Amino acid sequence: MRIAVFSDIHGNMEALEAFLADVAGRHVDRYVCLGDLVGYGASPNECIERLDSLASVRFVKGNHDAAALWQSSPYEMSSGAKTAILWTMDRLTPENLERLKALDDRFQDDRIQFCHANPLRSMNWRYVNTWFSAFRSFLSSRSRWIFVGHTHRPLVISRQTQFKLDFVTPKSESPFELDPDRRYIINCGSIGQPRDGNPDACYAILDTRNQWLEFRRVSYDIQSTAEKIRSAGLPEYLATRLFKGR
Ligand code: ZN
Repeated sequence: MRIAVFSDIHGNMEALEAFLADVAGRHVDRYVCLGDLVGYGASPNECIERLDSLASVRFVKGNHDAAALWQSSPYEMSSGAKTAILWTMDRLTPENLERLKALDDRFQDDRIQFCHANPLRSMNWRYVNTWFSAFRSFLSSRSRWIFVGHTHRPLVISRQTQFKLDFVTPKSESPFELDPDRRYIINCGSIGQPRDGNPDACYAILDTRNQWLEFRRVSYDIQSTAEKIRSAGLPEYLATRLFKGR
């Protein structure tokens, strides 16, 4: 089984289309989207509808999706995020609101756990990017592989022993072998707003039979995305940050 895991699309249709074109030839059996379909970007309806058209896809809900549904307060978000979510709420169609409502908080499939932020508790939205947060995350789940998004930065955390955790930032696209004796927390990065200094859309492919993990980076037409953000009247830095991958 080959699973494409992707997250944090954030209403960026150009990045989403570039990812879908890249993944199309990579013999993927199914897709898992780890949430944040909307927020920041100017194409929330288009992204939801495009994702809904995919066969063999499952979703979890992100914090921006929850905010767009008033399941968490947009007023607790950073200023740009709040402005964009309020803008998004005014534009989501009733059908797309229903689609967001139907997303799972998280789910477990075979040996794999999928969540937006962390496996501890859905809707607390804490990052898994430190030894302590990873330690607690491993304790809270029995899954061998735990996939997260939310930080917009690709990361592989592996557990050698209960206290010895390795953090690796994937730098190359060549697949690496997963150690059968270790458990992993894998952050698949972000499609629509990467923040690791590389502006290209990022996603992961897990090959469960061969136990390989592969990260892909895909360039897209950032200029068009930025223009849409500007003409929507959204904050300028939501456009400029895309060019920097920040
Ligand atoms: Zn996000």
